[in-house]
Amino acid sequence: MTAEVQLPAKEQRVAVIGAGIVGMMSAYYLFRAGCSVTVIDPAEPGDMRASSFGNGGWLSPSLVTPGAMPGLWKQVPKMLLDPKGPLTIDIRRLPRLLPWLFRFLWSGATERRVRPTSKALSSLVGSCPELHQQVAREIGADHLIEPRGLLFLYRDRQAFEREALPWALRREFGATWTEFDEQQLRIEEPNVPERYRFGVLVAGGHCVDPGGFVAEIARYLFSQGVQYRQSSALDFAFDGGRLAGVHTADGTVSCDKAVISAGAWSAQLARKVGNNIPLEAERGHHIVVAGEGPKLRNRLFLTDHKITVRTFKDATKVTGQVDFSGLETPANPLRFEVLHDLVADALPILKSGAQRKLSTWMGRRPSLPDGRPAIGRSRRSADVVLAFGHGHVGFAAGPETARLVTGLITGGVDEDLLAPFSPSRFA
Ligand SMILES: Cc1cc2nc3c(=O)[nH]c(=O)nc-3n(C[C@H](O)[C@H](O)[C@H](O)COP(=O)(O)OP(=O)(O)OC[C@H]3O[C@@H](n4cnc5c(N)ncnc54)[C@H](O)[C@@H]3O)c2cc1C
Repeated sequence: MTAEVQLPAKEQRVAVIGAGIVGMMSAYYLFRAGCSVTVIDPAEPGDMRASSFGNGGWLSPSLVTPGAMPGLWKQVPKMLLDPKGPLTIDIRRLPRLLPWLFRFLWSGATERRVRPTSKALSSLVGSCPELHQQVAREIGADHLIEPRGLLFLYRDRQAFEREALPWALRREFGATWTEFDEQQLRIEEPNVPERYRFGVLVAGGHCVDPGGFVAEIARYLFSQGVQYRQSSALDFAFDGGRLAGVHTADGTVSCDKAVISAGAWSAQLARKVGNNIPLEAERGHHIVVAGEGPKLRNRLFLTDHKITVRTFKDATKVTGQVDFSGLETPANPLRFEVLHDLVADALPILKSGAQRKLSTWMGRRPSLPDGRPAIGRSRRSADVVLAFGHGHVGFAAGPETARLVTGLITGGVDEDLLAPFSPSRFA
């Protein structure tokens, strides 16, 4: 690695690779710090190719529990055998995926392993509702961020109590919530399906239209002078050890610094600068079904089916599922059917008129096996910063990640905050 020579922010030309939430938030904070920024992405910001397009939009300090928790390994075979289960693996990919899965389960095997991850994630999501709101206000998109929590629905209190560790970690790392017994639940959410008799309303925020929000950040930044190169980044150009530019499919973007924030597509670019990162596309889905659903005050998380539900005036959006079928394999229509069946099972009102799907979407969560993103300097050069691998929490963690990225590029980053995300932990 070359010695780091810090240019003043206003003399820095920074190329941000990837225009998802992490890339656009990085562009936003870098631009505010005075850098001259070019965003590179073959797809327009807000495009449905990005995971940031159609996610659940949940912004909450409670997003601190990684996917792998103690005891999960016992549930995996049952999940895989259940065609409507929350987890699918393309069996042909299993040999390639096994080392990743092993690391994933190992990282969550004990409470001792999970707690540092929860602590690290809390530093990224702890202030997310406020940070998203601040950005939204500044770019004139307040209407896209609502100060609204998520209502977890359980069949009964015992089901909630069986998840003692995740809730203990959420409490320890700053999340707040209100618990409702059956009677209180029906006052809080009068149209809650009968089968749910216990609820937990977790404080936080919600992005009404994640892709629309990313597009709004881009619209604002491009009107202020941030540049956009609609192309794929392919490689990096160095001159005497310092970064000179990013090669794209349409020529080279000259720059002093670069940020790799290409979500699930980042691993190849990271390899070019010496980092071999075990990144997997943890595919997730949403469907929007037509028809009037139950009138709901809250966004719901149905804990038995592991799906989130949001109702609009004449449509219902359902999000969920984890599918390891590779980065570029087309979406499997069966996953959409499963989502539809699950929501119709839980909300019977949807069974009748809502068979028509208005839209379906598959997104790729960029996931690392230990549940933490990689944020830090590349091995080859401090001029290239890695910022990807946020898995299930990237939309919430976008602004805080971007503030770390900006600190890395303009100076003054808090190295203690950065340590748990070090890309070299996979060396
Ligand atoms: C079903 C589902 C529900 C989810 N719900 C939530 C939620 O409620 N809350 C939450 O916080 N998170 C949620 N997530 C996770 C969240 O969506 C992701 O963690 C986050 O969007 C990742 O953002 P990103 O910017 O890293 O990547 P992306 O949004 O995927 O953006 C990556 C961008 O890089 C571009 N790119 C790729 N290759 C190149 C290249 N070579 N050169 C230039 N650009 C390139 C792509 O075109 C893309 O635009 C959910 C995800 C899914 C799938």
